[in-house]
Amino acid sequence: MARPLLKDHSIESLRERFASEGLPAYRAEQVAGWLYGRGVEDLDAMTDLSLELRQRLAADWDIRALEVDAVQRSRDGTVKAALRTRDGARIETVMIPENDRSTLCVSSQVGCPLECSFCATGALGFTRNLTPGEIVDQLCRMNDILKGERRITNVVFMGMGEPLLNLPAVLEAIRLLIHPKAFGMAPRRVTVSTVGVLPQLEPLLALAPINLAVSLHATTDAVRDELVPLNRRFRLAELLDTLRSLDTVNPRRPVFFEYTLIAGVNDSPEDARRLAPLLHGIPSKLNLIPMNPHPDSSHRPPSDAVVDRFLREVAATGLRVTLRRSRGPDIQAACGQLALRPVRETAA
Ligand code: SAH
Repeated sequence: MARPLLKDHSIESLRERFASEGLPAYRAEQVAGWLYGRGVEDLDAMTDLSLELRQRLAADWDIRALEVDAVQRSRDGTVKAALRTRDGARIETVMIPENDRSTLCVSSQVGCPLECSFCATGALGFTRNLTPGEIVDQLCRMNDILKGERRITNVVFMGMGEPLLNLPAVLEAIRLLIHPKAFGMAPRRVTVSTVGVLPQLEPLLALAPINLAVSLHATTDAVRDELVPLNRRFRLAELLDTLRSLDTVNPRRPVFFEYTLIAGVNDSPEDARRLAPLLHGIPSKLNLIPMNPHPDSSHRPPSDAVVDRFLREVAATGLRVTLRRSRGPDIQAACGQLALRPVRETAA
């Protein structure tokens, strides 16, 4: 592969790099301002940099991490982009509009090694981790696609991959998301979703007051072992005890638990009633997501009646619970559907 990627560096790291090369460190802020603040990638347009510096940057670095392969738009406004890395790996990113909020669901790995039995990405297998630049370039490419119609306001690490199995790159990407001279997002507009790779939780949450989402999906180890195989390594009680022990989890920073409802597997009234005692002592919000079906899994969502009953049973126990509407199902952009299926032509 050719040159190093500028976007692989946080501003902090770029300052050090520049300083070690005899360049003024403040140039890092200037370059980041163009790349992320203004969305300008053409070095010649960076008019406050000297010609000499622009030439040097052009010779030493690559700017773009990703190219757009295909774009699909859902009837509900959701936009999915298939993107290609410099070495030809393919990933997907999804923009979900909601009032004045535009949330980008980013991928952190090419494929995923976790093999959760209801997730289409898991069925793809694992290719490699994404670099920090490949993570943040998903925002740059989506901002181009949106052409100023909307600007990304929130980022959720809920695309392909398990972010906590790629923690150094995810941390470096988050540094760019929240740096005022880069994307300038408030930390609470960033959410990282994980099945719970326990040793990585503390370093993730220590970086900044971002949100944590945890993929729970079951109330017993037996069921979670089947749905989320990593549960065999980190048991349910251990996961919940770890969350209880973290200072960075508190009423101002609750955990967002995700619970994908699957017919006949985790949707019983007993499951609903077990949730509140299980989560006791953890400031939390629970999101129920009826499973989005796809060809790689025999699991199916429960009927609407079962979903409603489950929601009512959980709400009755006093937990803060919401039912999440799937977005972009017509373009295979909903949770767990990211699997790089070829674009299906739709009649105009
Ligand atoms: N690996 C991380 C990030 C993926 S986030 C994690 O597991 O948390 C995507 C969320 O969608 C996770 O909660 C995942 O379990 C859930 N999901 C996966 N497949 C799904 C499907 N088919 N229907 C609904 N939710 C699904």
